Amino acid sequence: MSIKNTIGLLLLIAACTTEVRQPENVHLNQEEAITPTPVVCHLEDSIRDAGLVDVQFVNPDIRVYLRYSTRNNFLKKEMYGCLDHAYLQTMAAQKLDTAQQLLSGVDSNLHLLVWDAARPRSVQWKMWNTLQMPFNEKKRFVSNPKNGSIHNYGFAVDLTLCTSSGELLDMGTDFDYFGKAASASDEWELVQEKVLTEEQFDNRKLRRNVMLKAGFTTINSEWWHFNAMSRPEASAAYAILE
Ligand SMILES: [Zn+2]
Repeated sequence: MSIKNTIGLLLLIAACTTEVRQPENVHLNQEEAITPTPVVCHLEDSIRDAGLVDVQFVNPDIRVYLRYSTRNNFLKKEMYGCLDHAYLQTMAAQKLDTAQQLLSGVDSNLHLLVWDAARPRSVQWKMWNTLQMPFNEKKRFVSNPKNGSIHNYGFAVDLTLCTSSGELLDMGTDFDYFGKAASASDEWELVQEKVLTEEQFDNRKLRRNVMLKAGFTTINSEWWHFNAMSRPEASAAYAILE
């Protein structure tokens, strides 16, 4: 046999032996057949590796709809990709658990609905770079990633309230509304100016009361935002989620 024919024969043998045939009479059991391959989410893995906890693991009554994991946000783009669970540092998650328990004590039909929680700085950069506008204007919409926000440390949460059937309580504006009605201070004046209704005022007050009793603090410019720790305290003891 010539060398050429020998090589041809070897290639034919190799092709035959590498062909995979499904043996007959072998059936996958039902569990093997329907179990999907686990989806790897590196962003979520990095948050877990930093020691943060899933708020719904701490209290399953808390509802989560991460707006930056969808296109339903002011940037109209997905920022989180595969991440759709809300994570916080353990101390902040425990406070949120307390807030949900207080809320359930007032009305068992009500739930905290988390719109954003821990936000790695890589996502903050993505948000920052998505905004096509001068530096000073950008700061109105997204805090400068170089400084690191309390969300980047896992100690801030953005939330509203919803019912067990998923209906949102009216707070007067949507998440990330950049106008006067977003203010969390002087809300009674906003009612008198007819910027907010009394019902919206009462809904905000109920939510803020349970959050304050649970140990969170507010900021004046965004009614949906709460801090479990100040930025100086967080930066002294914790690393930014990168
Ligand atoms: Zn926030």
